[in-house]
Amino acid sequence: MNTTFRNEPLLELRRGPVRNEALQALAALDARLPLEVPMLIGDDVVTGQVFASVDPSNPTTVVANAHAATAAHVHDAITAAERGQQVWSKRPTTERAAALSRAAGILRSRRFELAALAVREAGKPWAEADGDVAEAIDFLEYYAQNALVLDAGRPLVQMPGERNSMRYVPRGVTGVIAPWNFPLAIAAGMVSAALATGNAVVLKPAEQAPACAKAVVDALHAAGVPHDALALLPGGDEPGKALVADPRIHTIVFTGSVAAGLNILQTAHTMVPGQRHVKKVIAEMGGKNAIIVDSDADLDDVVPGLLKSAFGFAGQKCSAASRALIHRAVADELTERLAGALSTLRVGPAADFGTDVPPVIDIAAQQRIEGYIDSAAPLAQGDTRDDGFYVPPTLFAGLPTDHKIIQEEIFGPVLSLETVDSVEHACELVDAGGFALTGGLFSRSPRTIEHVSERTPVGNLYINREITGAMVGRQPFGGGRLSGTGPKAGGPDYLLQFVEARAVTENT
Ligand code: GLU
Repeated sequence: MNTTFRNEPLLELRRGPVRNEALQALAALDARLPLEVPMLIGDDVVTGQVFASVDPSNPTTVVANAHAATAAHVHDAITAAERGQQVWSKRPTTERAAALSRAAGILRSRRFELAALAVREAGKPWAEADGDVAEAIDFLEYYAQNALVLDAGRPLVQMPGERNSMRYVPRGVTGVIAPWNFPLAIAAGMVSAALATGNAVVLKPAEQAPACAKAVVDALHAAGVPHDALALLPGGDEPGKALVADPRIHTIVFTGSVAAGLNILQTAHTMVPGQRHVKKVIAEMGGKNAIIVDSDADLDDVVPGLLKSAFGFAGQKCSAASRALIHRAVADELTERLAGALSTLRVGPAADFGTDVPPVIDIAAQQRIEGYIDSAAPLAQGDTRDDGFYVPPTLFAGLPTDHKIIQEEIFGPVLSLETVDSVEHACELVDAGGFALTGGLFSRSPRTIEHVSERTPVGNLYINREITGAMVGRQPFGGGRLSGTGPKAGGPDYLLQFVEARAVTENT
């Protein structure tokens, strides 16, 4: 792999001038609200039934009015994408990679504006919003470079009188169903992987964040991706289902809940009359992620590591920690320190620089998470507010292992503490779960670290640090079991999912 890739540096948001620039960008954005997000189908800008995305920190503010696609729009977009596929797949990989890199440059030049948009539309605090923009840039650059590597093919065994070669060709029109929690990065990542390998894309972003998705699509179009090769279809279930079911789609790339992912797998693998290929589904689904705390762990590291993993962006990451499995020897002390630390977390609007825990994405999420919190007696709770979709950061302790708070993905600021007799006991609890996305271990023992690294089923294990924030190219992201079907996003194998290999043997 080309080693020139470097992650986009993050903004130094502690510096006054940087904060000023961020606030100016936010004010400029606010003056333009609400934004308009039409459907983009080929060269047509299409309107339909309007729905709104709102600011989770202040739900009376409409961030965007988006136009919902119907099944008929999905049909039209795929027809355009089939034309786009013909054109885009024939472009040399170098040209496609250059277009993605140009799109990265456009995002870079709109850095503050896009971070401000993620603050408003997804309720991401500044540092998280900035990370989202930087990761979107990373995905574009990384997959552009990886596509060039893939283009070189792989060496095969050669025999006298026989010449063997293998090359990779695009699979075909790709449907992308993107989540709201990384509204720029994950949309950009999934779309750019498909485009880099020569596939046309129809993107259906999450209903909660259509304007962020449009910013990504606009950058790619401006960078030279033909309109036919990249359609934008805002909306909810109807366009999502139609996209998955259409026999002209070859690959579906999805990030979201396990329930939605399993539905997609079922529909995608049901043959439609006339369909002449098997669809591939790349699904990144949920997590129920645990951090193991050994008896020799440095609690000064554990406390901030756990708080960041569980409550950063209000726990709304697949990678977030929702279980802490704490060795009995340190359980009382750590529990006391965590309960104390909870009250120091600043719960507030995403746009406030001091905010630790922002609101959750919408009222449905707020009510769902409150349902979990009401199902048991919390050990401790932080602050909350009633002027947005806030949920108090909440700690539970000592719940039975089969309690739904311990078994189900909550996707909110909820952490449950469980006492274990040994690290092995913790490993057994992790192994008994259905998900296998991220995990953490705080330990000072090299043997324990080696043992857990070998034993754990999770796709991403983090030692002595927080378990969120995988970096493109450094921590290829994705898990097994119910957490996903795909290879790792931001890793060297990801693009292989978007191509078919063709081997040619010539007798000379
Ligand atoms: N890649 C993100 C992280 O490492 C999580 C992505 C997700 O929530 O889907 O934190």
